[in-house]
Amino acid sequence: MQKRVYIETYGCQMNEHDSERMLRLLEDFSFRETKEAREADLILINTCSVREKPEHKVYSALGRFRQLKEERGTMIGVAGCVAQQEGERLLARVPYLDLVIGTHAISSLPELVQRVVGSGQRVCETAFDPKGGFLKTPLPQKSSTKVKSYITIMQGCNRFCSFCIVPYVRGRETSRSSREILDEIRELVDRGVREVCLLGQNVNAYGKGLTEELDFPGLLSQIDKIKGIERIRFTTSHPADLSEGLIRAFSELGSLCEHIHLPFQSGSDRVLDRMHRGYTRSSYLEKIEGLKEKCPSIAITADVIVGFPGEEEKDFNDTLDLMEKVRFDDLFSFKYSSRRGTRAAQFEDQVETEIKERRLSVLQQRQRGITFERNKALEGSVVEVLVEGKSKQSMQDVTGRTRSNKAVNFRGESSLVGKLVSVRITQAYPHSLRGEIANSVNASSRDDRFPA
Ligand code: SAM
Ligand code: SF4
Repeated sequence: MQKRVYIETYGCQMNEHDSERMLRLLEDFSFRETKEAREADLILINTCSVREKPEHKVYSALGRFRQLKEERGTMIGVAGCVAQQEGERLLARVPYLDLVIGTHAISSLPELVQRVVGSGQRVCETAFDPKGGFLKTPLPQKSSTKVKSYITIMQGCNRFCSFCIVPYVRGRETSRSSREILDEIRELVDRGVREVCLLGQNVNAYGKGLTEELDFPGLLSQIDKIKGIERIRFTTSHPADLSEGLIRAFSELGSLCEHIHLPFQSGSDRVLDRMHRGYTRSSYLEKIEGLKEKCPSIAITADVIVGFPGEEEKDFNDTLDLMEKVRFDDLFSFKYSSRRGTRAAQFEDQVETEIKERRLSVLQQRQRGITFERNKALEGSVVEVLVEGKSKQSMQDVTGRTRSNKAVNFRGESSLVGKLVSVRITQAYPHSLRGEIANSVNASSRDDRFPA
């Protein structure tokens, strides 16, 4: 008999991608997705513990589902970083929780569900798989209009930044074999996918420790050769692992999009050192220069933390100054959040909440201005847009992204979905662009580029 599963996801793209994979695995075991927790036989919460706020959301979500457990006997499971971090403690804390699925246990999800059903016992699986616990990317249906796909190429992290929980909850860096990755991308392209985004906590460390010869730029170059691939993206890169070869790849590989997400975390050398980031302000800026030199149109986005323990006003000013120098296209900014078990949680010079809040608001206000200025600079230019679907705002519009990863809306038919279209930017907004199909050029497709 068919059963229904409801999945709630918190955190990054890797978690979104993991949720998609959990769903596909369960589909093979007679589950289908429901968007209504009330209707579900199984509720899964895929969690994030990188900061305190998303971690708290897990407990309030569990509180919300308690009643469903009581009324309908719904099975409830927690997956992801909080599951890995808390393990058995989570079962003890939440008596109506049935299942804890660690970050490397996703591939065993159907068996774990079976075990709960079969034994009537609560189950917790948090062992690390030395091979990384990789899972195949679910293939879109042949008839689907899915244009882009994520693909996990490495797991875990060896860097141990002093503020970060990731190495503890995702384990050591493990890379997938390049053959597996390339085969998977070929299959995705066969199903109509035009853009892939390679995922990993420290994605440009790909290949370290692998017995095969491919490093990250080598892998990109192999993917670029796949017939039919239009665009390659990747996230998230670490500045210390940004090699000369990777910088060169931006000018050499036709399908590598002109965008890099390169978190800097702080503009102060003193803070970077205490964060254990492994680079300095000037070496970060040198790499940015190298990127802009090789690829003048590159868009640069980053993550930054304010209020790291011991951060003084002058350190914060160094962060603002670095932002002004780079002029990021966008910035994801966070207040430092103390994470149990990390080194920075033990630092005694924690910054007061009000100071963190003030600094975050100053920084975000400045970045809003820069993002808008960067978008404004595109007005009048013609850009290549990969059309992803109909716009949610207007049925007459389609939506897509530039190679620099900016969202663009313009008048167009759904037949453009999956096509590359030349679009003239007519209006910039703070978070998106408006355009019109450029007269001179028109829609192209993979088949035009690669005639049979
Ligand atoms: N591996 C990436 C890197 O090193 O740049 C980052 C991955 S991390 C999951 C995503 C972002 O969360 C980080 O870049 C950082 O800005 C933020 N982050 C991680 N730990 C944090 C903490 N304890 N408090 C606030 N922000 C944090
Ligand atoms: Fe966390 Fe990124 Fe540092 Fe790894 S490199 S510890 S994921 S912030």
